[in-house]
Amino acid sequence: MECKNAYLQGIMDKVIAKNPAEPEFHQAVKEVLQSFEPVIEKHPEYVEAGIIDRIVEPERVIMFRVPWVDDNGKVQVNRGFRVQFNSAIGPYKGGLRFHPSVNLGVIKFLGFEQIFKNSLTGLPMGGGKGGSDFDPKGKSDGEVMRFCQSFMTELFRHIGPDTDVPAGDMGVGAREIGYMYGQYKRLRNEFTGTLTGKGLTYGGSLVRKEATGYGCCYFTQEMLNAKGDSFEGKTVVISGSGNVAIYAAEKAQQLGAKVVALSDSNGYIYDKEGIKLDTVKKIKEVERKRIKEYVNYHQNAEYHEGSSGIWTIPCDIALPCATQNELDGEAAKTLVKNGCIAVAEGANMPSTPEAIEVFLNNGVLFGPAKAANAGGVAVSGLEMSQNSLRYSWSFEEVDEKLKNIMKNIYKNTSEAAKEYGHENNFVVGANIAGFLKVAETMLAHGVAY
Ligand code: NDP
Repeated sequence: MECKNAYLQGIMDKVIAKNPAEPEFHQAVKEVLQSFEPVIEKHPEYVEAGIIDRIVEPERVIMFRVPWVDDNGKVQVNRGFRVQFNSAIGPYKGGLRFHPSVNLGVIKFLGFEQIFKNSLTGLPMGGGKGGSDFDPKGKSDGEVMRFCQSFMTELFRHIGPDTDVPAGDMGVGAREIGYMYGQYKRLRNEFTGTLTGKGLTYGGSLVRKEATGYGCCYFTQEMLNAKGDSFEGKTVVISGSGNVAIYAAEKAQQLGAKVVALSDSNGYIYDKEGIKLDTVKKIKEVERKRIKEYVNYHQNAEYHEGSSGIWTIPCDIALPCATQNELDGEAAKTLVKNGCIAVAEGANMPSTPEAIEVFLNNGVLFGPAKAANAGGVAVSGLEMSQNSLRYSWSFEEVDEKLKNIMKNIYKNTSEAAKEYGHENNFVVGANIAGFLKVAETMLAHGVAY
């Protein structure tokens, strides 16, 4: 589907021409531009000031060599990225992804989406994203440390507590943040909150580890509550078995649901009696092993090769929490056929445009990533506040703030959808609600960027 509006289509054409071979970036921009028709009708001043022409162009792109030495003494070279996309409403903020699939287009799609997501949280954070094509899987701790130190030896000059505050993402957890923070502190000779997702002994926030998964469930709960429904007694399928998936499963269980499946990039496990999360945490967080190990602990559970098969399991609620474009149109049709009533994206852009259309056309409650997974960056924002205050809030205090932020995101998203003529379409609602604050600020700043 193209943009119906000629002005918006013109911007899309330029994005494709200027950023060739970046399909994920094109996909993310297109989805946003397709939502903007009613916005430019109501706000011709945004067109006049070139707000949309500017917002699709990153303020700054940094790309660098990351050399490191492996355990055999051999020199390895990876590529590092930081895309500082938009700083209208606050310092650039967004995670670092270490995964072999990382390239400039992937980081640009993630950085672009981050602008709107961060705005939706209501906290003062601009949008950015970074990472590397380095694969931490199968590397020793020493190799990961040397890579992180080399990566930070270039990145440190571009970031700072009031400039750009990176966090984790795929392949970047507590271990990697620790190594990068150590190197940053050494190079800068300062102790500031320049990274979030830090360990609790050096400025980290309680609930940060749980935030994206918990937040995704809080958002889903809001969608269900609005229909007089809840998680209670529901069957839930969750893809991935990383940080987001594990804590989405934990919160879904706490809210009374039964989580029956999890996956990794090789395959999925199905435990119809309900996944035992203690086992999953041991396998994934402590031992860093594959999800198929689960069946060695629970003989009644099944393991199936191939991760996309997870969407054939009948469920009431599906939470894609692995990676981009992991849920396509066919998978969406299967979910609908099996009676799925709600889908919320824990991962970034996990549903293809065809899948989203299937969900929206069939009345499935659909929580898009920008809204549904904003809990992670929201608690990162709260970590920044605590660092500035030189103070730590309790688990309950942070969790309560997270819950309120997710409630407000749902409220603003659903109200914007209604106001702009797309009631119950939270894709359009999240794009518009996230955009308006940034657009107003860019207008106020003049042609500053
Ligand atoms: P992790 O690295 O902790 O976990 C990623 C999980 O996804 C792993 O289990 C991985 O398996 C699995 N996976 C990767 N590719 C595929 C695939 N093609 N099919 C099935 N499973 C796959 O990352 P996170 O949990 O932090 O991130 C997951 C998603 O959530 C990403 O899209 C990320 O951008 C998004 N997100 C994360 C936030 C955070 O706070 N961490 C915040 C907001 C969004 P394997 O081990 O085989 O690679």
